[in-house]
Amino acid sequence: MRSTYVTELLPSPARPAEVSALIGADRMPGQGWIDDVDPSRGAVVARLARCGAAEVAGAVATARETFQRRWRRRPASERGSLLRAVAERIRAEAEELAVQESTETGKPLRQGRADVAAAARYFEFYGSVVEALHGEVVPQVGDNQVFVHREPHGVTGHIVAWNYPLQITARSAAASLAAGNCCVIKPAEEASLGAVRLAEIALEAGVPAGCFNVVTGLGEEAGAALAAAPVDHLAFTGSVEVGRLVAATAGRNLVPTTMELGGKSPNIVFDDADLELALPTIVNSIVQNGGQTCSAGSRLLVHRDIHRRVVDGIAERFRALRLGPALEDPDLGPLISAAQRERVAGLVGDGAGDGRLVTGGRVAEGPGLDDGYFFEPTLVDDVAPDSLLAREEVFGPVLAVTPFDDLDEAVRIANGTDFGLVAAVWTRNVGRAHWISRELDAGQVFVNTYGAGGGVELPFGGVKNSGFGREKGFEGLLAYTRTKTVAVRSVADDDMS
Ligand code: NAD
Repeated sequence: MRSTYVTELLPSPARPAEVSALIGADRMPGQGWIDDVDPSRGAVVARLARCGAAEVAGAVATARETFQRRWRRRPASERGSLLRAVAERIRAEAEELAVQESTETGKPLRQGRADVAAAARYFEFYGSVVEALHGEVVPQVGDNQVFVHREPHGVTGHIVAWNYPLQITARSAAASLAAGNCCVIKPAEEASLGAVRLAEIALEAGVPAGCFNVVTGLGEEAGAALAAAPVDHLAFTGSVEVGRLVAATAGRNLVPTTMELGGKSPNIVFDDADLELALPTIVNSIVQNGGQTCSAGSRLLVHRDIHRRVVDGIAERFRALRLGPALEDPDLGPLISAAQRERVAGLVGDGAGDGRLVTGGRVAEGPGLDDGYFFEPTLVDDVAPDSLLAREEVFGPVLAVTPFDDLDEAVRIANGTDFGLVAAVWTRNVGRAHWISRELDAGQVFVNTYGAGGGVELPFGGVKNSGFGREKGFEGLLAYTRTKTVAVRSVADDDMS
């Protein structure tokens, strides 16, 4: 099978290659084509098959048959070793995958490389821990010996966001396949090549055709069709708005869902914080991937006594950031699209209330930037907690700063949005760190760090509008299983012999 790589597609930009969906081992052309644009250059790099309800139905049927006849019968040790082989193949072509990921999404090449490494780790991790996925025995319930088995759901659907396409596809597909499910992936129309290539790699590594299917297309067509399809579990990663639609559709069919949605995550800096450690980490937490990260540290709550020092330190770092096309490995790449850039500019312009623009706030211009969708790293100070900029997910390199006077106020502001994905606390006071960790509305809390290196092993997911259910870690594997309880009468009874 010829591999789908943007490196091979790039030499002929005048006629971008057409990339089909992959159902079983078959390419599916769909009902037309969608342009796949490189946001660093504003140029079309590929055309993706525009699939709809018919292709989704075909993929679900293929996955169902493969699940029934083949994959669920494979022992966990065999599934695990196939998934670990996928990890090895990902590593063997890490650079091609990274170039492709960075080209499609605009992320700096070192971030593309980090995402490929994480994708490999997901296959390795789930390919390993699945061998420790045992059920439970509940001894002697009356005359019964009770076994609680962990079984796969069957066919799992996965609707994926564009911002970390390889990582998100890998984290949920690897967990699903490890648990014995077969999956149908609907990648985002802005960035689908990584998912298609992962499916090809899985086939090349020996994963049976039909386990890992990818249906490309538009959200309102292929995505909506997958949300309504007869699958047994649905994992959605994306915006709150679309998450509500998908959850409602799945709810009507009583299909269980995992919802990984947006965030407005705070870094909370106390006056005893180690600022040498805190400032570069805080900057990275908002400029990584151009701020287009669900868990971006987009709010900075800082104790009033150190407020000025912290704001000056961040502004200096923002001004030193180098912007550029993804493959030049800058500090900051472009936003995903012109529309996204407009939205970011609008929120900075109209959403900041009485906030004071310290730096940035404009479309970035200059050599190498004019064809892409670049926006300057932006720092807005004294942002009122009830302003739009403090409450809405911007999805751009925009940091909103709000000073606080005491611990209670810090917690109140931190919890004062509709989101609750992650939060970070910067303090040398261990007791305070533990106390505030308990009080914060978030699925993950970091103390004197942010993100914990991506944390393939760490359960991840939100509360409130950031969603429900967990991906990653062992918890993520359990989410792709359901229990079956088997009670066996166990008595010394001659009649039973
Ligand atoms: P989006 O909601 O626009 O799209 C997400 C996916 O849903 C895409 O595949 C899209 O094609 C599909 N979709 C769109 N309309 C649909 C419909 N009507 N029915 C079914 N599917 C549909 O989100 P996005 O712009 O791709 O991603 C950005 C959002 O994702 C941000 O809010 C971000 O915080 C969130 N996100 C969350 C996590 C997490 O793990 N919590 C990770 C990454 C991104």
